[in-house]
Amino acid sequence: MRLCMIGTGYVGLVSGACFADIGHQVICVDNDQEKIKMLVLGRIPIYEPGLEELVKRNLKKKSISFTTSIAEGTKKSQVIFIAVGTPPKDCGEPDLSAVEQVSQEIGMAMGEYKLIVEKSTVPVQTGKWVRTTIQRFNRSGVDFDVASNPEFLREGSAIDDFLHPDRVVLGVENDRAKQLMLEIYEPIGGIKIVTDIESAELIKHASNSFLSMKISFINAISRICELTGADVVKVSDGMGLDKRIGREFLNAGAGFGGFCFPKDLKAFIGIAKRLGYDFNLLKEVENINSNQQRHIVDKLEKLLWNIKDKTVGILGLSFKPDTDDMRYAPSITIIEMLQTSGARIKAYDPVAMDKAKLVLKNVEFCPNPYKVAEAADAIMLVTEWSEFKDLDFARIKKSMRQPVILDGRNMFDPQEIRGLGFIYEGIGR
Ligand code: NAD
Repeated sequence: MRLCMIGTGYVGLVSGACFADIGHQVICVDNDQEKIKMLVLGRIPIYEPGLEELVKRNLKKKSISFTTSIAEGTKKSQVIFIAVGTPPKDCGEPDLSAVEQVSQEIGMAMGEYKLIVEKSTVPVQTGKWVRTTIQRFNRSGVDFDVASNPEFLREGSAIDDFLHPDRVVLGVENDRAKQLMLEIYEPIGGIKIVTDIESAELIKHASNSFLSMKISFINAISRICELTGADVVKVSDGMGLDKRIGREFLNAGAGFGGFCFPKDLKAFIGIAKRLGYDFNLLKEVENINSNQQRHIVDKLEKLLWNIKDKTVGILGLSFKPDTDDMRYAPSITIIEMLQTSGARIKAYDPVAMDKAKLVLKNVEFCPNPYKVAEAADAIMLVTEWSEFKDLDFARIKKSMRQPVILDGRNMFDPQEIRGLGFIYEGIGR
């Protein structure tokens, strides 16, 4: 089928490339000219494992193309996905101006029937506004449908998540839209859940809020563990074996970040309030998350006695492993807090350094973890990149000023690290 993907970021580019790879003809649109220039040449503006090969393969097959023109994308396609950013405004509610602008342009360009699909994460009832906007700008008066198809891929494993989803949520308003959506997703496995548009929109916000809640829950438990001598990893394992609970997202640590959880949580609290429901539970999920970052900095201050003028080495900057995404990364808040207390910061990340340099000030970026350790008073692990598992800790210890490790993701075995002569602390153990 001829598909158009408007917004060629983490979600749009992965979705577009995967749709092309399973046999659709995809035209990807973005208003960032530099991005489109790179993509036309097969160069990928983000780090996502496997994405470069996927895009190059489909460029070669001519099943994917790139443009800055929404009109061109609309005219050449039967189904148009909106995957633009929905960043938070100062008040926390999502900024939907890009969704509106794109809807206007689609409306103006339509010359025959189109199905317009929301893929961006949007508040419940956005579909109605997309429909109204397209209607107002649809001068030719052609028929169209709107659908909601929220995306659940995770950066770092985005291609696999897209091609092998647990479920595909299809929010539609009639059978015509349903059949088109089922046809598009036919080659992709996973359970297809067909709902009305509002329920589909809500499934996305409810899912992300629930997952954030799981993380904050186990972080709260980790505090109880620290106060009682229990080990949160054992508690998580014990809880997680209960099928009703599950082990995933029960890892205590430096809290959640990234472009989805913090913003979607805030957005959902705002949407609920506007609808007349005070979602206090989710406000506490947010509080626990931000307190966790303060708590980790406090822990380090206790380990070092005075943090002023101490050198702290940070391992891992991206909001999670296998991505270069620095948006709302816990490392940013943690580093800023440490700097406010007078610490000097050295840092290393396997792929996010370029993006980190744009947001972090007065940080000495190092080419590898060993340089981070040199003359450091402490190392704090913030993102659990797998390459950190194989570090030569004897070498690290030799070059540090004080052998202190704060493991913000419980990545290392406490006994092993302490056995090597380190002062080691994890989270909740
Ligand atoms: P992104 O910032 O990486 O990509 C958005 C793209 O849209 C950018 O390339 C931007 O240039 C483009 N854009 C913005 N306004 C435009 C316009 N008017 N016309 C054309 N292009 C425009 O964002 P993302 O991470 O891909 O997220 C997109 C949406 O998907 C968001 O709503 C997000 O919440 C949701 N989502 C993200 C993830 C994730 O892991 N990143 C997962 C699921 C859902």
